[in-house]
Amino acid sequence: MTSGLGIFGGTFDPIHTGHVGLALQVCRQLNVTQLRLMPTRLPPHRGNPTASGEQRAAMVQLAIAGCPNLSLDSRELARNRTSYTIDSLREIRLEEGEQTPLFFVLGMDSLNALDSWRDWQKLTDYAHLVVVARPGQAWPIPSSVVGEWLVGRVREAEAMPFGCCGQVIRLDADFPQSATAIRAALRAGATSHDWLAPSVSAYIQTHQLYPREP
Ligand code: ATP
Repeated sequence: MTSGLGIFGGTFDPIHTGHVGLALQVCRQLNVTQLRLMPTRLPPHRGNPTASGEQRAAMVQLAIAGCPNLSLDSRELARNRTSYTIDSLREIRLEEGEQTPLFFVLGMDSLNALDSWRDWQKLTDYAHLVVVARPGQAWPIPSSVVGEWLVGRVREAEAMPFGCCGQVIRLDADFPQSATAIRAALRAGATSHDWLAPSVSAYIQTHQLYPREP
């Protein structure tokens, strides 16, 4: 079976041990030999202060050092316009050709809001969607727009092998980490956090990201 390429999109503000754990779990469970973490440009409505694209990319590099099958894909940061996942997946499909299984990884939080993404119903024309739930998170309610679209498309990760695109794959994981919780702890005065790699923690301190709030 051809091994697959994984793409994990996110803000990574900052990247935490849950992101890396998830990425490695996807590699192990879905026969993915290379997985790229692809930071998004921040949507304008996100709160400040927040790390710049360059800083988020630097933290990703630090967090994945020592994981040979993980890499950084900075294409969305390099665009100086709003970046859409559909454009990135279309581009990656062209680069990789038709025979490579592509797996786009997203969390349940993101799945619930999928209908706000540009051309969301076409995402599976280019890749599988691998949906990872946080502990205790439920699937979208069946009567929602996304819930209806999911009917008949969802496969369990154990149902391997998959083709090159077209499925929604459910992956059960158990990572409690959250970047929001990390930012809140740092702003409340913590100088590091258990959910950060030591190198990422040091970078945050050096660059005074997420400073303590008065
Ligand atoms: P924030 O709290 O700032 O929203 P986050 O921790 O969710 O950040 P993101 O960069 O938004 O991190 O995460 C990228 C993707 O990974 C999102 O689709 C998110 O739902 C998912 N994700 C992040 N943390 C987890 C986790 N612990 N378990 C499962 N999915 C996760």
